[in-house]
Amino acid sequence: MALIVQKFGGTSVGDAERIGAVADHVARTREAGNEVVVVVSAMGKFTDDLIRLADDVSPTRPPRELDMLLTAGERISMALVSMALGARGVESASFTGSQAGIITDTDHTRAKILEMRPDRIREALDDGLVPVVAGFQGVSTEKDITTLGRGGSDVTAVALAAALHADVCEIYTDVTGVFSADPRVVAKARRLAKVSFDEMMEMAATGGRVLMLRSVEFARRHAVPLHVRSSFTWEPGTWIVEEDPTMEEAVVTAITDDKSEAKVTVGGVPDKPGVAAKLFRELADQGINVDMIVQNTGANGLTDISFTVAKTDLAAAGDACNHVKDVIGALEVTTDDNIGRVSIIGAGMKSNPGVTALMFETLSANGINIEMISTSSIRISCVLRAEKVGDAVRALHTAFGLDAA
Ligand code: ADP
Ligand code: ASP
Ligand code: MG
Repeated sequence: MALIVQKFGGTSVGDAERIGAVADHVARTREAGNEVVVVVSAMGKFTDDLIRLADDVSPTRPPRELDMLLTAGERISMALVSMALGARGVESASFTGSQAGIITDTDHTRAKILEMRPDRIREALDDGLVPVVAGFQGVSTEKDITTLGRGGSDVTAVALAAALHADVCEIYTDVTGVFSADPRVVAKARRLAKVSFDEMMEMAATGGRVLMLRSVEFARRHAVPLHVRSSFTWEPGTWIVEEDPTMEEAVVTAITDDKSEAKVTVGGVPDKPGVAAKLFRELADQGINVDMIVQNTGANGLTDISFTVAKTDLAAAGDACNHVKDVIGALEVTTDDNIGRVSIIGAGMKSNPGVTALMFETLSANGINIEMISTSSIRISCVLRAEKVGDAVRALHTAFGLDAA
């Protein structure tokens, strides 16, 4: 008998019919002799709707109250899925994140899990029930309700799978697995049978939103096998696994795109030690995550520093830079939210020269200007104008031989 954690995303539980299909699948998995723990997201785009409502009543969206509001979405789906299971003769009970023992820090809207105490889930399983757990939420060490960041139901599922020593964590979604590019951007994208944890982390970090980055990190750390698959066709999907050292690695496995970031440039900065330190200390103290950073070659003792941040942090980042502008002696701060990023990812690029050249040649042949570049040992990212992103991804997908036949 295997223990399987099955997580269903928003589209998978989008309406009563979808909830019925999910309950049928859980019932089938039980009939096959497995124990099942279900994790659910809010129905459809309900989380976005709740955020809009919050915006309508409050310019500041107090984080504690926002978390209380957003967790309502997952409460609705967990109760409905549990009822649908009952209607099929499968005994079940729903649990909030707090009841499931998910203990987090106090960082509202992006809380981190500190501890898992899934005693009630274990007891429910021992009593022969299917526990249905609300994804994306926990309870803080101060006993407040928290959320784990957008897409956080993936983290809930992996954390439960790790704590319960599940045999597999299945992530059911609206595509049939992890593809060589977002299938909504590249019609010729191919489904990958296997992706290494290293590659999946780079994909998740650069726009491949099919899995939340933190869930992949968590799964690797706790050796949880992940299987991404469709809740529409139920066919086998993509396994996220440790790299197999006996296999030859693909040079480029996937191309990702991301329009969720914006660029900040601090211009006319004195080119001397300590300036970057002061600037990035201020950003860190404001809790702003900085992604790509580029410092231009200095001229006349002055230089420019550009970096990217999440669009949602752009206003705060601009304020922080303006705050230190005079302290560091910078001339101006400009922001640009019309950028996008394309990245090529592949574990084999470490040992293959020419990958960077082909990426730049492909972009240039399509008349696309590169504004910033960053690399890791298995990834190259370029920042471009946002409107060029789709063309760039499609051209790179073809150039690196990834198009489906
Ligand atoms: P869920 O609500 O099930 O969590 P998400 O919207 O978070 O679903 O993630 C699934 C979506 O991820 C797909 O609809 C797809 O458009 C997008 N996506 C982006 N990159 C990829 C990729 N490389 N492979 C598969 N899906 C991807
Ligand atoms: N409902 C939450 C969101 O939309 C969490 C999730 O779907 O994973 O971000
Ligand atoms: Mg998701």
